[in-house]
Order: sequence, then C-alpha cells, then structure tokens
Amino acid sequence: MNTLNSRSSTPRRRGGVRWWVILLFGLYAAWYWFSNQQEAAFTGRAQLIDSSVQEEAALGLQAYREILSQSRVLTQGQAPAQVKQIAERLVAVGPRVEATLAAARNAKPSIAWDAYDWQVSLIQSEQANAFCLPGGKIAVYTGILPIAGNDSALAAIMGHEIAHALLRHSAERMAQNKLVNLGSMAAGVAISDMDTQQQKAVMAVMGAGAQYGVLLPFSRDHESEADEVGLMLAAAACYDPREAIGLWERMGQASAGQAPPEFMSTHPSGSTRIAHLERLMPQALEIRAAFCGK
Ligand SMILES: [Zn+2]
Repeated sequence: MNTLNSRSSTPRRRGGVRWWVILLFGLYAAWYWFSNQQEAAFTGRAQLIDSSVQEEAALGLQAYREILSQSRVLTQGQAPAQVKQIAERLVAVGPRVEATLAAARNAKPSIAWDAYDWQVSLIQSEQANAFCLPGGKIAVYTGILPIAGNDSALAAIMGHEIAHALLRHSAERMAQNKLVNLGSMAAGVAISDMDTQQQKAVMAVMGAGAQYGVLLPFSRDHESEADEVGLMLAAAACYDPREAIGLWERMGQASAGQAPPEFMSTHPSGSTRIAHLERLMPQALEIRAAFCGK
C-alpha cells in the first residue's frame, strides 16, 4: 500500500522533453563552431575543423598503405609516368594558385604545404576510380583512364581529388560528424522519457534531418568546391580546362551502362555539375593565360 501511495503521489512524468539537454547541446555546438572555425583555402568558405593537417595526414598515410598493400600498383611503362607527371604539375602550381585566389579576395594564403607529402600510384583495376587521401596520397585506377581519354581530362579528375585534400574536406567531415553524433546523443537523452514509439519517430525524423539538412548538402558543397579548385589547378598547370566538360559528359554516359564507374557513386555527373564548370570556365581560361601565356 505504501508503494502504491508513493507511486501515485509522485507520478513519473511521461512524454516530456528535457529541454535543458537540448539547450546545453546548443551552447556546446555554438562554442565548438566558433572555436574551431577557419577559412577554407582557395575559396574562403567558413569551415569547421578540429584536427591538424598532420593528424589528418597520419590517417591518410595509414589508409593509403593498406589500400596499396591490397592492390596491384603499376610502375613500369608509359601510364604510371603519365599519371605521375600530371600529379607533379598540378601540385607544383598549387601554392601560386592559392596565392592568386587569396589575393583576389584580400586574404593571405593559409595552406601548410610542408605538411603534404605527395605520392601518386596507378592501380591496375577495372574500377573507374581515383582519390587523394589527406596529406597528399593520390591513387588513380586504370579503369578511369579510358573515360578520361586524354591528359587534360585526367588532370581535371586528379585536380578535383587533390583539391579535396588541400581543402581538408575529410577533416571537416569528421568534425561535422562528431557534432551530428553528439547532437543525436543529446536528442536521445532529451526524449528518453517519451514512450518508445514516440522516441523512434522523433529519432527517425532527426536522422533524416541530419542526413538531408546537414550532411548531404555539405558533401554537395565539397563536390562543387573541389570542382572549382581542381579546374583552376588544371588550368594553371597548362592543361585545357575545357576538357573537364567532355569528361563529365563521358562519366554520365558511362554511368548509364550496366556497371557504373565507382567514381560516379560519390561524383554524380549532372547538368548542375557541368553548368557550374561552364560558369567557372572564363576564370579558368584567364588563369591558364596568366600561368602559361596561352
Ligand atoms: Zn569529389
């Protein structure tokens, strides 16, 4: 009877939201954002990064070694030399391109170029893929060579990948994921008094919100930023930036086939992408004229 009385006198409140948890998370997120905010190199976009290039490069190197140990890396013949030369030319113009774009928006260059240890490998594989890991570890898969078709188009692909590394997109994604995970933990605590069905519904909506409201637009931003910077790098390295358009058209055609290129799963080619590149073309041609005199 006692138990019953105490139960009815202090009923456990169901269905409430612990707003103070949300508030606390909001305060923390704001502090985290302001104390880890920096300007993206080349473009000046505000980005959230809480790790050093060195930390990021160590992770990149570890992943690179693992991938190479499981791959057939080509060293003989013309193709590896061609890929190496394109990488060298793109990286060599990097600091000058950064300085040019920084000056155009009255900012100072900020990339720690010394922290990058560039390496490029051509991997024998049917996969049409290419990447550049943090710290400057580049890989090109032979399967992407026929889609590229020429040096300028391959330079557009590699410039795009190198741009991801220089813009530190993966460090930014790590910081963003950290915040999203913490946010979903906070939400979980805040609604833990709701009944299970309601909790599930709220978390599903929040999960979709994080995916489509934060993480997805974020990766779209990264893609168009890498397109922009990659195009400028290729142009400055005296490749023909206009080849990027044909390249993305060929990518689109290849993805309509039975086995879409690996690259296309993270790099959807669409009219938006091509239109963006076309808008950037006058600037790219200007940079090419300034760097190469043609
Ligand atoms: Zn990309």
